[in-house]
Amino acid sequence: MERNKGKTRKSIILVLILLTLSVCILSYLSYNKYIKYNNILKDNKELNTKISTLKKEYEEEEKIKSNLQEEENSLNNKEKEIVKLKEEVFSLASNLEEKITNNESNYKIAYITFDDGPYHSTDEVLDILDKYKVKATFFTIGLDKDICYDNNNYSCAETYKKEVDRGHTIANHTYTHAIFRGLYNSTTSFINDVKRQEKLIEERTGYKTNIVRFPGGSSTAGNLKNSITNELKNMGYGWVDWTANDGDGGYVPNTTVAWTNFTNSINENIEVVLFHDYSKITISILPKAIEYLQENNYIILPLFYNSIKVNK
Ligand SMILES: [Zn+2]
Repeated sequence: MERNKGKTRKSIILVLILLTLSVCILSYLSYNKYIKYNNILKDNKELNTKISTLKKEYEEEEKIKSNLQEEENSLNNKEKEIVKLKEEVFSLASNLEEKITNNESNYKIAYITFDDGPYHSTDEVLDILDKYKVKATFFTIGLDKDICYDNNNYSCAETYKKEVDRGHTIANHTYTHAIFRGLYNSTTSFINDVKRQEKLIEERTGYKTNIVRFPGGSSTAGNLKNSITNELKNMGYGWVDWTANDGDGGYVPNTTVAWTNFTNSINENIEVVLFHDYSKITISILPKAIEYLQENNYIILPLFYNSIKVNK
């Protein structure tokens, strides 16, 4: 009896140990699961936060994109409006030229042109023109303009676009302007130089110009003039010389001489005035020159392909 009792007690203790062990193992397993579950919940929360941040950023980007698109559309519309306005102005200018030629108008026209630029001083010219709400024509070249060679710290690369954006006519004065270094060797050498400048203007401004001025004037082309002008015509270009100037392309000692040169040269009803945007002397008399032309009934306009002053 005593032995049986002992056995039963042992069995109960064993069962109790086993039970306790099972409870411990189960508790341990459950606890582990709980920890894992909690971690997953935490990860999930972080993921949700990240997703919502990302969503917000994406929505903001979409908003910026759509605003940019709207701005681009409105700019495109403005550009189209400007092109249309320019066409209207040029058509009116054509009519006025005809009336002036037939002595049917009291008004006269002055086409102010600037050669050989852009220079770092072109900004000053642009500001003066803006101040007087006057549009001009820039016969640009390309060589060395990345360093704007009278001021090595200043690049003129952006100036082409400024000229167009501010409503002026941009025109082609050849890329190299190398009058004594091969430009006038042959028709091909001249035309290639024109094409090179055409490409530069197009790259810098998105605009294709159709007016050329011969470096030194068309007479500098000598015997080649006819063949060059024919080729220019085939390419859709007109060309223009000038009828007035202040002598700033040569030697002008001071503003007094420049002013006298300028006023003495103004005597036709339709004038093409030659200036250079590198000339400090011209820049200093430019406001007075604009006022002088306006007081003498000249309407100052930018050149356009159909002008009678543009030879075709
Ligand atoms: Zn020139």
